[in-house]
Amino acid sequence: MATRDDILVELGLTPTWRRRDSGGLPAAAVASVALESAVPKPLALREAGLRAAPAPVVAQDATARAPRIAALSWEEFAGDVDACTACGLCKTRNKSVPGVGDVDAEWLFVGEAPGAEEDARGEPFVGQAGRLLDNMLAALGMARGRNVYIANVLKCRPPNNRTPEPSEAEACRPYLERQVAMIRPKLIVALGKSAASLLLGTDATIASLRGRVHRYRGAPLIVTYHPAYLLRNLPDKAKAWEDMLLARRTVAASPDNSVADPPPVAR
Ligand code: SF4
Repeated sequence: MATRDDILVELGLTPTWRRRDSGGLPAAAVASVALESAVPKPLALREAGLRAAPAPVVAQDATARAPRIAALSWEEFAGDVDACTACGLCKTRNKSVPGVGDVDAEWLFVGEAPGAEEDARGEPFVGQAGRLLDNMLAALGMARGRNVYIANVLKCRPPNNRTPEPSEAEACRPYLERQVAMIRPKLIVALGKSAASLLLGTDATIASLRGRVHRYRGAPLIVTYHPAYLLRNLPDKAKAWEDMLLARRTVAASPDNSVADPPPVAR
């Protein structure tokens, strides 16, 4: 069982020591860089290859769209999201943010939508909140891209980080469903109330959703706080760590390939 000291160390709540040879970077940042460079090269190349897939010509016919997305391969996926014009967010995005990570991952982390930095870089959970997520993964012995896939419900940024419209979330839903069907994760972790609400179709508080196992398209789902919230509410980091321990127990108890059947194609 993790002690309080373990939690504080793993989530970066201990004093920030700076190594003289680290160029002034905090120790956690140095560890993060080391973790990044530890990601196996073939995986990094595979991700780059997926991202570089040519964008197909996309028919945006609403009835044909869901079954077409449900049949996408990984090679087609990022290009298809890049070309998507199914909701108004395509007009204001700089880059679409399909997702990143190990396509055979057991863990799928899902946030609500990209923010400004994600929109600029085309990658989910970058910046301070992303570094905290990376620290949480490291505390579990994992790393971004190593048995972990990270995505958002919406693949394009809502202007000024406003709450997505229900119609936008609905238009984007087939993409996440396709990712879940292809990855077949042992566990989905919903990061924050918005992601949990969109995935579970509930307005319940995050306090009432935490601490138990839900299901999304056949896969176990756990709800925890969004890393950006944790940056502003340090005491809740310990609760987030409890959620991660529940998540780890759930993965350990899960049979192979938790998504038993492909998700329904049309909604
Ligand atoms: Fe398409 Fe989703 Fe982007 Fe809307 S948010 S344009 S549905 S990819």
